[in-house]
Amino acid sequence: MKPAIIGIPYDEQSSYMRGAAEAPPLIREAFHSAASNYWSESGIDLKSVEIFDAGDIEAVSGIAMMAKIDQEIRTLVDAGYCPISLGGDHAITFPIMRGIAAKHPRLSILHFDAHPDLYDEFEGNRYSHACPFARIMEAGLVERLVQVGIRTMSGHQRTQVERFGVEVIEMKNLREEMDLRFDTPVYISFDIDGLDPAFAPGVSHREPGGLSTRQALNIINRIDVPVAGADIVEFNPRQDHTGVTAFVCAKLLKEIAAKIITTSR
Ligand code: MN
Ligand code: MN
Repeated sequence: MKPAIIGIPYDEQSSYMRGAAEAPPLIREAFHSAASNYWSESGIDLKSVEIFDAGDIEAVSGIAMMAKIDQEIRTLVDAGYCPISLGGDHAITFPIMRGIAAKHPRLSILHFDAHPDLYDEFEGNRYSHACPFARIMEAGLVERLVQVGIRTMSGHQRTQVERFGVEVIEMKNLREEMDLRFDTPVYISFDIDGLDPAFAPGVSHREPGGLSTRQALNIINRIDVPVAGADIVEFNPRQDHTGVTAFVCAKLLKEIAAKIITTSR
């Protein structure tokens, strides 16, 4: 499948700080910046393969945006594209997965995050960015959910992990040689705060003790099953005072796009 980029300027379900809605143009700018080139580390020239840019979803206020995201992702998937969503808070992953799962009866999620995002509700909101993976697992949209980089597990969320059979690789247990195996297509949901704030300070929830950019890239590069789609979420430009986090997002975009291409050949 061919990768397609789609921006999602929506951060209304953020519990602590707004700003993730402003991410899409900055990730695009870093991706196209003359500071680097279009080659992935895996040897794909992303200049020569056409990456369709579907533009940004026009944001609507409130929960109506959820249905709109679902619809726009379905449209891309039906047209034969593999969507890579840029920007937004993590709440958008639930409607994205509805759209993706409509085409993929068997699916696993590889989820990078400091947080499990498994709350049944957060401050009374079931669509909060703290809840998307509870909604996804309740709806039975995927066979497996594998979380990497977690370092904020709460008691309630540990119960949710048991309830849904989530495979959690907590940051404290991460080993360099860890090799994740998938036997279904995999969807990559990348919350930028899964990385250590030393590498990616431009996030709303800076949680020390996270993955290095290199560790995350190595995990992605070892995927050997088709990639059904991806999102790069929770990048908050208001917190990105040096602009480095935009380039981290662009680097992830590059390697994920290349992975989509190489695993679908
Ligand atoms: Mn998250
Ligand atoms: Mn997070």
